[in-house]
Amino acid sequence: MCADAPPTQPSASLYIHVPFCRAKCGYCAFFSEPLRPGALDAYLPLLLDEIGLWAARLGRLFVPTVFFGGGTPSLLPPEALARIMDALRSRFDLAPDAEISMEANPESASPDFLRAARAQGVNRLSLGVQSFRDEELALLGRPHTARQAWEAATRARGAGFANLGLDLIWGLPAQRESQWLESLRRAVELAPEHLSCYGLTLEPGTPLGDDPEARNQLPPERELARMYIHTGELLEDAGYLQYEISNYARLGHACRHNQACWEGRDYLGLGPAATSTLGPCRWTNPEDLRAWAELVRAQRIGLHQRETLSPEIRAQERLMLALRTAKGLDLAEYRSLSGQNLLTRHKAIIQALRQKELIRIHQGRLRLTRTGMLVSNSIIRALGFD
Ligand code: SF4
Repeated sequence: MCADAPPTQPSASLYIHVPFCRAKCGYCAFFSEPLRPGALDAYLPLLLDEIGLWAARLGRLFVPTVFFGGGTPSLLPPEALARIMDALRSRFDLAPDAEISMEANPESASPDFLRAARAQGVNRLSLGVQSFRDEELALLGRPHTARQAWEAATRARGAGFANLGLDLIWGLPAQRESQWLESLRRAVELAPEHLSCYGLTLEPGTPLGDDPEARNQLPPERELARMYIHTGELLEDAGYLQYEISNYARLGHACRHNQACWEGRDYLGLGPAATSTLGPCRWTNPEDLRAWAELVRAQRIGLHQRETLSPEIRAQERLMLALRTAKGLDLAEYRSLSGQNLLTRHKAIIQALRQKELIRIHQGRLRLTRTGMLVSNSIIRALGFD
């Protein structure tokens, strides 16, 4: 049960949502607004207040990872970032080896910003490249060119980022496999430590999602399947390990923050639209700057969209997240969470999935094969929901 008294947790990862972008990309369903004059000046004191309120409530939380996401965190002026990092360090116990990640966009990852981020202890940069083909970037409504993306990655290295991730999107309208692999090879040439390769999802309510022509031009299933399988093969040959459906990293460079969330550990989200999960309690800040500001000013943090996760829901989530990872699901842990033996509960389905080589069971863990990952949603539905 989520008691009225606040939850107390000794340790949690921190997520900070920076909800501003230069312009809205055509496929974006995240909460972000075009940056208007004065918006950051209004946002920053509220974020600092929110940090202070949580520190007063939780005490000195031990923080193994911090993740600045957005939106576009690279729009933060260096002095704003310094004030946020000062607040985090003075209010919480950041682990000495804390992973501090920041998402950045090529057009705003200026040398000054990158140097300031490094100086503030940001030690992992995740650059939103999406494609190395200008016509694809234009189709996605990205506010940068392929050349700018390349230069931003080079600048990040120059600023001292030894842990660099590039984010790419595949499966775009009218995209052929060879075009996707061309972008992927360009990304590999930059030798990043980490690559996230997301299949495009056209969300209703976004310009691309509501464009029937874009929908009609999406690559056919077989082409998408080839893109996915060949992505994994190309990256494996280049020395990257797949550790989640869409994520690949050189040994020792998997994103610790995301891993913690996927492993069901606690995280505290700050800023509008940020979700938190502490123990069985989950809440999500309003997806609206004014409503979030009111909530912080009224000191009603942690109350918006608050729910208590039942043991069944927690077990279901654990299964869903674990099956997306290369480690897979620990069957004994699942049994203790859910009180159910997955192998006997879904005996026939599991047998069929094994025969089709979509899953493997080894040393007490159930994992999806790469082909299984292609149809992960159906497998997770079949195993996680009755
Ligand atoms: S930069 Fe990212 S968050 Fe901002 S609009 Fe584009 S996709 Fe959305």
